[in-house]
Amino acid sequence: MKKKKSKAVKKKAGAVKKKPAASRGRVLSAGEPPSFRVENLKGRGVGLILCDHASSRVPRSLKDMGLKKNILKKHIGWDIGAEDASLHISRALDMPAVLAQYSRLVIDLNRAPHHAECMVETSDRIKIPANAVLSKKDRERRLKEIYWPYQNKIGKLLDGFVKKRQVPIILAIHSFTPEMEGVRRPWQISVMWKNEEKIAKQLVRGIRSNHPDVLVGENQPYTLFGERFAGSTIWRHAEERNLPYVFVEFRQDLVDTKQKAAYWADIFLQALQPVLENSETFAGRKIKPSKK
Ligand SMILES: [Zn+2]
Repeated sequence: MKKKKSKAVKKKAGAVKKKPAASRGRVLSAGEPPSFRVENLKGRGVGLILCDHASSRVPRSLKDMGLKKNILKKHIGWDIGAEDASLHISRALDMPAVLAQYSRLVIDLNRAPHHAECMVETSDRIKIPANAVLSKKDRERRLKEIYWPYQNKIGKLLDGFVKKRQVPIILAIHSFTPEMEGVRRPWQISVMWKNEEKIAKQLVRGIRSNHPDVLVGENQPYTLFGERFAGSTIWRHAEERNLPYVFVEFRQDLVDTKQKAAYWADIFLQALQPVLENSETFAGRKIKPSKK
């Protein structure tokens, strides 16, 4: 969709004389939380819950990305409700959850590290001043301090299961805004897939049969096919490793309180149960080593 021109970015970066504060040192300052946290680490469920867009926090050095605080709290800053849904699912399945602790506007953990949308200049027609002039070093620092610690931790946790000869399922939890760039999105819950169609379809069938009134999106409003998500979290940890996964998106207006998030997470969990009980979800997989 929004294919940004990395060449143009480089040119601009070279033309700027005065560098922003973040260029001079680390992105994360002393006392700030690390790029992710793990909840329910000792959970006994065989799987991992991933929430790439759990937080709207911005490191102090990036000065709210040059935006007003209330803008950061909108959908462009994070996936509203996804953290609460993830924590609910983590408790229900007794599975560890890895949650990002910084805004997707700082760096989008759900893109390949060199994808143009990894550090966006514009999101839903809003300019992101702190991303307008990024030097190569600025980009590298965000990758080093925020992106890679998150991805590496996920790789390690998955390796822990594989070492025990278990096949962990990955549950990627997201949420989508009801309207993006002027286009309304009617689905209440959406399931995305690329090479795990069987799992996705069983989940979709489950939601529809349990709740015929619910409008379920299939690879809507995004699709995992295509270059946009090549190199993303699910690509890296599930598709490339041949691990089973589910990628679910909740519509944000339906999950914007803890109670609402729990309600929709339960709808998801109810339909997920038969997937977890289906031996075909896990059988006959040749699991590949984690990508370094
Ligand atoms: Zn998301």
